[in-house]
Amino acid sequence: MRFPLALTAKIAGHIIKHKLRKTPKFAMVLQLEPLHTCNLTCTGCGRIREYSTSLKDMVPLEKCLQAAMDCDAPMVSICGGEPLIYPKIEELVTGLLDQKRIIYICTNAMFMRKKMRDYMAADYSPEMETKLQALLKAELVSGKEAEVIRKSDAAARSRVVIRPNRWMYWNVHVDGLEFTHDLIVEREGVFKECVAAIKMAKILGYQTATNTTVYKETDVQEIEDMFKFLSSLEVDAHTISPGYEYDAAKKDMVKRLGKQPEDFFLTRKMTRQKFARIQEWSKAFTIIGTPMYQEFLAGKREMTCTPWAIPTFNVKGWKAPCYLMTDGHYDGYQEMLSKVQWEKYGVVDGVARDQRCEHCMVHCGYDPSGALGTNYRRGDNWKNFRYNFGAKPKPYPASAELAEHAFNGVTIGKGHLAEAKAAINSPRAAMSGGQSVFQRREELHEHSNGGSCGSGDTGERDGLMRKIANAKKI
Ligand code: SF4
Ligand code: SF4
Repeated sequence: MRFPLALTAKIAGHIIKHKLRKTPKFAMVLQLEPLHTCNLTCTGCGRIREYSTSLKDMVPLEKCLQAAMDCDAPMVSICGGEPLIYPKIEELVTGLLDQKRIIYICTNAMFMRKKMRDYMAADYSPEMETKLQALLKAELVSGKEAEVIRKSDAAARSRVVIRPNRWMYWNVHVDGLEFTHDLIVEREGVFKECVAAIKMAKILGYQTATNTTVYKETDVQEIEDMFKFLSSLEVDAHTISPGYEYDAAKKDMVKRLGKQPEDFFLTRKMTRQKFARIQEWSKAFTIIGTPMYQEFLAGKREMTCTPWAIPTFNVKGWKAPCYLMTDGHYDGYQEMLSKVQWEKYGVVDGVARDQRCEHCMVHCGYDPSGALGTNYRRGDNWKNFRYNFGAKPKPYPASAELAEHAFNGVTIGKGHLAEAKAAINSPRAAMSGGQSVFQRREELHEHSNGGSCGSGDTGERDGLMRKIANAKKI
């Protein structure tokens, strides 16, 4: 099976239950943001910009657990910010598992190995030695760390930890191969750490997933190469979604100056070009997403968004109408459902009900539409069944060549603090994108903003991608 039977059955059961009850609107995935603090400052991160005034705030554990009960989504995606910074992350995961939810911890991976060592220290017994030896051999733990694990004291043994669980996935943010990813997250070595964390997780028996956002300037071939590499690591699942950002000022320029929308936005037309091969990818790789959403991305059908099916809860409450746009926050999920005028949003039959929705095709708005049967076409149920219950794609064969291709940045001396930064700031690269993101960040002394962890300035990310493409040619 493409995905574990228990998970698929749980989600199918949830949909059937609400269909039988004729519930008009219900949640499928809760995007839970217990905090917006992050250890990275990625170019174009929406969350650390939108919530810049509440970066130090956190949602208390009880409120996080209550939010999950409140909307009763079978899946919870714990995101942020960086959720592994949340002081009660272990208790949160444990509490959500007790509620029998499927959990995705969306992380930049920088603290993943530490959390897995905590688990090993808490549960260490001679039976774990084989795995520890495998980790030592692969240099995923050091000799010193192995000793700490073996000699764990009572405090380490009584700690609440994140154990491998068939209902839980580490969901690692990866937006490209080493050169691109490290530039986007603006720190050398992050891609390498993502790979190390995924390898360690696989050895220890955790389930792993990755999430990737595609921007206007994303090189689609690189995304395909990234999937091949991640598949060779036996990553269990991947989500991929187009990035989207609406800016009224840019829209105004389109109108007043007669510019093309594609000068500013990842338009629907452009998204469809980028995702033209999504159905082939989903045959080769374990991509999460309904076949209907994939058809929508590839331009083969229209869909209406169902943003209430993937609600977001954070320090300010229930965010409406969707993960991307904020027109208000509400205290309760049901309150949000009843107070938001949902008919004001989305695109119906190609016509945007809200200008801001015009080019949006994001996963968090449209993927549930496919599962919920919005814009249902005959045969959709069968397609869904065949996709989920069909054979799991085989891992892409691992090879030294594939790994060499993946580690094309700091590993081969092209770190962003050295050659890459110089190349990106070169006159030639600057010509195609103006001032460097790095220079600008240094001047502003603040988080810039969009990224896999949220909406934001995709233009800024695109500017960087354009320079990356030029830097690669130099
Ligand atoms: S995109 Fe994610 S990892 Fe990057 S700064 Fe934002 S919250 Fe942190
Ligand atoms: S179309 Fe996109 S931006 Fe508009 S409400 Fe739906 S998910 Fe949100």
